[in-house]
Amino acid sequence: MKLLDGKETSKKIKANIAKEVATMIDKDMKAPHLAAVLVGEDPASQFYVKSKEKSCHAVGITSSLYKLPATTTQEELLKTIDFINKDPEIDGFIVQLPLPKHIDVDTVIASIDPTKDVDGFHPINIGRMVLGQETYLPATPAGIMMLLEEYKIETDGKHVVVLGRSNIVGTPISIMLSRKSYPGNATVTVCHSRTENLSSITQQADILIAAIGQPEFVTADMVKKDAVIVDVGIHQKEDASTEKGYRIVGDVDYKEVSKKASYITPVPGGVGLMTIVALLQNTLKAAKKEVYA
Ligand code: NDP
Repeated sequence: MKLLDGKETSKKIKANIAKEVATMIDKDMKAPHLAAVLVGEDPASQFYVKSKEKSCHAVGITSSLYKLPATTTQEELLKTIDFINKDPEIDGFIVQLPLPKHIDVDTVIASIDPTKDVDGFHPINIGRMVLGQETYLPATPAGIMMLLEEYKIETDGKHVVVLGRSNIVGTPISIMLSRKSYPGNATVTVCHSRTENLSSITQQADILIAAIGQPEFVTADMVKKDAVIVDVGIHQKEDASTEKGYRIVGDVDYKEVSKKASYITPVPGGVGLMTIVALLQNTLKAAKKEVYA
């Protein structure tokens, strides 16, 4: 078994991004700027936003945070987004999800200027992705693609099984891997909560992508020998034997499945780090106006 190592791969890509940012500054251009909008106090969201800011600074991308209380109305949030849309200093921004229940996420995403939508969630950018046009690819699927590319994983003609059909992971990665390019040209099956005989499908996967949000759901009996396993899930699992009282696990039972896999992503140290790198790359693209000239 070999690791699809997000730590090593993200380090390499970040070094390239840092070089490009330095070149921009040498040419008297301003550093790319990423803004994040955070509504409420969700600890996981606070952690993700902090890691994104830290990664920005490590490569020379500047950042700002719009922190709004959980009681923010949808109208107030839309006003903040409108303000950021119009701020020429901000190249790209994200609205950290999930949002409080009283706010309609689709309305919020649709209000983001597509040219600044570095999460790649706006319907226009999703449409461009489906058509194979230049766009901001959603960060997690883009990160998975970079990992498959880095390790030269053969995807042509392979059977990819995607567990999960969310708008941010399962659906976009299934489209990206079925496109006529590399990584792609795969035969893709998408599974979800209504899928019958799930194990019989996952057992056929040459590449299995687990994005279902269920801790250690994929067990060794569900995977084919020598399959490539990409684990998107992130969960805190209680574990009294650790100092913190918990450990981080994915959607895959790593200990057992890794014995059968040819390649596997660790959690942590896999897809999560690649997601952040993909966001940095989209921010750089936004600053260089590579998607929308
Ligand atoms: P969602 O909860 O939005 O979607 C989960 C999907 O899994 C749904 O399509 C659901 O089906 C399907 N599903 C749930 N239970 C089952 C089951 N028992 N059998 C088959 N399918 C099932 O999740 P996300 O895509 O947002 O995230 C998935 C995981 O990835 C989470 O653990 C999340 O924390 C993590 N994540 C990690 C990121 C990273 O950077 N590493 C980024 C984003 C997410 P249905 O549609 O029928 O409800």
